[in-house]
Amino acid sequence: MTREILKGIYQIHVPLPGNPLKYLNSYLIKGNDRSLLIDTGFNWPECKEAQLKAMDELGMDWAQIDFFITHAHGDHVGLVNELADKDARVYCSEIDAQIVQMFIHSRYWELSDMFFKQHGYPVEKLTRKHDDIEGYISGGGNIQFTPVKEGDTLRVGNYRLYCIETPGHSPGHMCLYEPDKKLIFSGDHILDGITSNITAWGGSYDCLGLYLKSLEKIDALDIKLVLPAHRKLISDYHQRIAELVTHHEERLQEILDILHGGFMSAYQVASRMHWDLTYDSWEEFPDFQRWFATGEAIAHLEHLAERGKVKRVQQEELMLYELA
Ligand SMILES: [Zn+2]
Ligand SMILES: [Zn+2]
Repeated sequence: MTREILKGIYQIHVPLPGNPLKYLNSYLIKGNDRSLLIDTGFNWPECKEAQLKAMDELGMDWAQIDFFITHAHGDHVGLVNELADKDARVYCSEIDAQIVQMFIHSRYWELSDMFFKQHGYPVEKLTRKHDDIEGYISGGGNIQFTPVKEGDTLRVGNYRLYCIETPGHSPGHMCLYEPDKKLIFSGDHILDGITSNITAWGGSYDCLGLYLKSLEKIDALDIKLVLPAHRKLISDYHQRIAELVTHHEERLQEILDILHGGFMSAYQVASRMHWDLTYDSWEEFPDFQRWFATGEAIAHLEHLAERGKVKRVQQEELMLYELA
C-alpha cells in the first residue's frame, strides 16, 4: 500500500508480521535525477515484497534510488543491502553505521551479554543466537555507508532536507527536516500511540538524557507535519512531545518509588515496574521482553544517577542502585 502524502513524497506501508510495531512507514521522495528512500524494513521476504511492489507501482528504477537510514535498527536498515544498486548512496550517521557493522560480530553480543549480566539479567536464559542478526539485517558488515552529520543537506526534487542529530533511541539516530515545507521525517524519535524504546547501549551514554534533549531540539523547530517510521502522521508535535516527556518523568518517579524498598539491580527494578503487556507475571514475560524491559530500566536508572537522584553501588560483579 502506497500513498502520496505531499507532491513527490510517497509513504510505503511495509508489514512487520509478528512484530508489535506492526508495520514500518518507509518514504520515497522522488527526485529529477536521483530519488531517496527513507528506511527499508527487515531483511524479511514480506518487507522486500512490499518494497519491490511499491517501486514497481511508482515506476521507479532501483538504479536511481539512494537511501537514508534513520538509525541502526533492523526494521530500518535490514533490506538496504538487498535493495541498493552498486552505485547507490546509503546515508546514515557515522555512529549508527558503525553499530550496524558491529551487530554482525559475536563479540558485540558477548559484550552486550556481559553488560546485561552486570545489571542482574540472567543471561544464561538468553536464547538469542548470534547468527540471527542476518535474519534482520542483510549483509550488515558489507554495507557501504555515506556518513552524514548535523546540518548536512540532501537535495531531492524540490525538497531540501537537513540532517538533524537526535540521539537517544539509538546513539546516532537522525531525523530529516525540510524547513521550507516544514516537514520532518522523524524515524523512531517521535511516534504516535506508542513510545519508542529507550534502552542502554553500554558504555557511558545517558540515553534517556540524550533522548529528552533531542525532543527539546525538535520542539524548537517550526513543523507542520511529522512523518514517523511507525503508526500515524503527527500534526500537533508540541503536544506529542509533551506527552513523551511526561511519560518518561512518570517512569523516573515510578523507579524512585520502587527504590524506597532498598538497593536493587536494574533487572529487579524492571520486574517491579508496570509494563503494558498481557502476561500475568514478570516470570511469564518472554526472555526478549524481559531483556527490553531491563534495558529501559537501566536507561532510566542511569539518567536518575546523572540527575543525582540515585547512586550506583558496585557489589562484586553486580551493579546495584539505591536512592541518593
Ligand atoms: Zn528503532
Ligand atoms: Zn523502528
